[in-house]
Amino acid sequence: MILRIDRLQTELPPPSTPDPKGASAVQELMGGKFGEMSTLMNYTFQSFNFRNRQGARPFYDLIANIAAEEYGHIELVATTINTMLTGSSVEDMTETSQKQHFIAGGKSALPQDSQGRAWTGDFVTATGDLVEDLTHNFFLETGARNNKLKVYEAVDHPAARALTGYLLVRGGVHQVAYARALENLTGADLTKLFPAPRIPTEKIPECQPHIKAGAHLKLYRFSPSDYLELAAVWNGAHPETGDPLVVEEMPPSGFPPFDLPSEPDVFAPDYAPEEIAEIAKRLRTQAGLPEMPTGVVANPDGLVAKVKDKITS
Ligand code: MN
Ligand code: MN
Repeated sequence: MILRIDRLQTELPPPSTPDPKGASAVQELMGGKFGEMSTLMNYTFQSFNFRNRQGARPFYDLIANIAAEEYGHIELVATTINTMLTGSSVEDMTETSQKQHFIAGGKSALPQDSQGRAWTGDFVTATGDLVEDLTHNFFLETGARNNKLKVYEAVDHPAARALTGYLLVRGGVHQVAYARALENLTGADLTKLFPAPRIPTEKIPECQPHIKAGAHLKLYRFSPSDYLELAAVWNGAHPETGDPLVVEEMPPSGFPPFDLPSEPDVFAPDYAPEEIAEIAKRLRTQAGLPEMPTGVVANPDGLVAKVKDKITS
């Protein structure tokens, strides 16, 4: 099973100028062949199907634990797309934007690629053969890094840049993790391929704060008491920087998300959202909960809506 924490793994900026065209490109990182849905579902199925776990525990722990991190990456991509679509209007529905963002998604992310094609389970490789699956995972992380670099170049919206800056660093960690696993199992040294593609992560300005914080060296353990054998694989020196790899015994503490404003023109969450807020308040009071909402958001005063009003007026 999986626990859920209402925080984002990295800080994303509040909505600014809407960018529906850029949001369409970012969809490739969600539901494309090398998107976060693919990494999540590849590692999730490989971990569900893993046989002789006790015999191969370090490798099982590695795949299962990275799967948990990928859930948070899907959340980051969705939040980025939603941020970029905030404040957009029907007039923004152009040839290069994804009309389904408005019509099906209510100005929000969809489980699709940049062309509006649905993500498919055909993107999952979970053969049961550990070396084959780990080799596939290394290839998948390399393709994911390739696509993130291209989206970084193609889209200059601050949310897309913050997203790709973080995911490039974390994807680099996963590339190293699968390379280390394969080296331990077979002796093959895939670290000679780094960086792949051949662009050093530290050259990208949005990656630098994460590298400074050591995020390129850390494998987080996404469980209060399980997956204890990560350190059996995640150890030694980082192949590019030479710094020691470390297991963090807990997930990143995370950042509260911005509470994105209602978009009544697409009925999200309603044509008259204040009515739902009234109902919620009444239900809280009846249940003996505090009158004010208890959730944690980056803008408890609803500042994003005011900023948005300023931009769009
Ligand atoms: Mn990822
Ligand atoms: Mn990954």
